[in-house]
Amino acid sequence: MRRWIHSLMILYSILGLCQLQPLIQESEQLASQWVEIVQGEVKGSIVGEDGKPVIAQLRFFDSDGALIKRIQTDIDGNFEILLDEGHYNLEVSKGYEYEMKQLPIEVKKENPLNLKSISLTRLMDWTAKSYLCGDLHQHSQFSDDGLNTVEEVLIANLANGLDFGAMADHNTVDGNDEWLSLSQKLSYLAIPAQEITTNQGHYLALNTSNLIDVTALTSEDEIDQMIDEAHHQGGMIQINHPGRNFSFWNVGGQFDAIEIWNGQAMPPIPNLNDIDEEFAYNQISKQKWFDLLSEGVKITALGNSDNHDISSESITAPISENEQFNEWIAQGLYNGNPRNYVKVEEESVEGILKGIKDGHVFITNGPLMDVTLNEATFGDRVVSTNEAEISYLIASNQGSLEALNVIADGQVIETIPLAEDVPTLGTINLNLSNYQWVVFEVISKSYEYAISNPIYLK
Ligand SMILES: [Zn+2]
Repeated sequence: MRRWIHSLMILYSILGLCQLQPLIQESEQLASQWVEIVQGEVKGSIVGEDGKPVIAQLRFFDSDGALIKRIQTDIDGNFEILLDEGHYNLEVSKGYEYEMKQLPIEVKKENPLNLKSISLTRLMDWTAKSYLCGDLHQHSQFSDDGLNTVEEVLIANLANGLDFGAMADHNTVDGNDEWLSLSQKLSYLAIPAQEITTNQGHYLALNTSNLIDVTALTSEDEIDQMIDEAHHQGGMIQINHPGRNFSFWNVGGQFDAIEIWNGQAMPPIPNLNDIDEEFAYNQISKQKWFDLLSEGVKITALGNSDNHDISSESITAPISENEQFNEWIAQGLYNGNPRNYVKVEEESVEGILKGIKDGHVFITNGPLMDVTLNEATFGDRVVSTNEAEISYLIASNQGSLEALNVIADGQVIETIPLAEDVPTLGTINLNLSNYQWVVFEVISKSYEYAISNPIYLK
């Protein structure tokens, strides 16, 4: 809101200069409010338990809990920002495996704050369970609608705890060289990509370096050609946000992946009420994916942010009459929200691509899952299912977990209650002999949500 006042002030000042008399009085009133806003400096550094610098994310909330600013440290863990004088709650975080530290601070011009060596504890280690996490659909300035440099997106990804990612700019591969070369220096696994943006849907061509020059699609044959071209380059191809603008469902099963959760719309949580149609397409995408699975198609589901602005400042204003929606969007639309946790045999781009191909993936905006069915993992096939043994470990650093749903052939067949803020570990036996596939879903008391890829049965 304050930013609006600033912008209005500048606007009114310009109008004032143009001698528009009726506005001058209001302009003077706003000017007196404006000059009262004094800024103070906050700087500091973030370290891990070992005292070494950590690249982290910082969010500043005002005393009403409204998000004022989101920034990242630099690669040496340092940050520096000017904020309006006042009281804030500073949240320091690094994705879903670290604590989310809260620090009340007061910003005053006369007393610059220097918060040295704030330590951030890693609570969970899913890498030790062979999972790496990443966001495969993000944009930079190489897209005409992207706001950030490639480097800014990369630092924001590291600050948000991501291990890998793809830069998927609209109909260009021009950002890939920089994306790959910068990543190499920062032990981040970068995948070259592009978002093929057509009049009939958008497609992520993952692990492709040459432009796939398609902007109009008129037939299923042309879809086939596009898929072939991606495969020819050694790539994979995903239908992006299909619930929004994809209609070639006859050939939907030919794609390698389907983006059932796109960060620009509400998560595909069951029973969300009256979502504006514009933001409900993940629900449609998820249902279409379930339909494909029930037709016997094996296709990997992925979730990505589709982020165009790492600060999320261009999109935080509530724009709906739906309270649920406003609450959700006020949290910000960030890179890495949601993200894919991919189980890998080796920590490399090849390992990640193979993990995706094999469906060893769950998608999340917070909850972490480790689930096996007769010792098989997501994407695997299990034959003996009369007395299937499901073992689960579910955890979250946000503390609002509610239940683990077992979904078989599209229906919830079992709901297992979860502790809100401590990991839940358990085993149950279920007869799954009548089903073709099973998916696991974590629901919460807020907007935290996670969904796995299927374990195929029979
Ligand atoms: Zn996109």
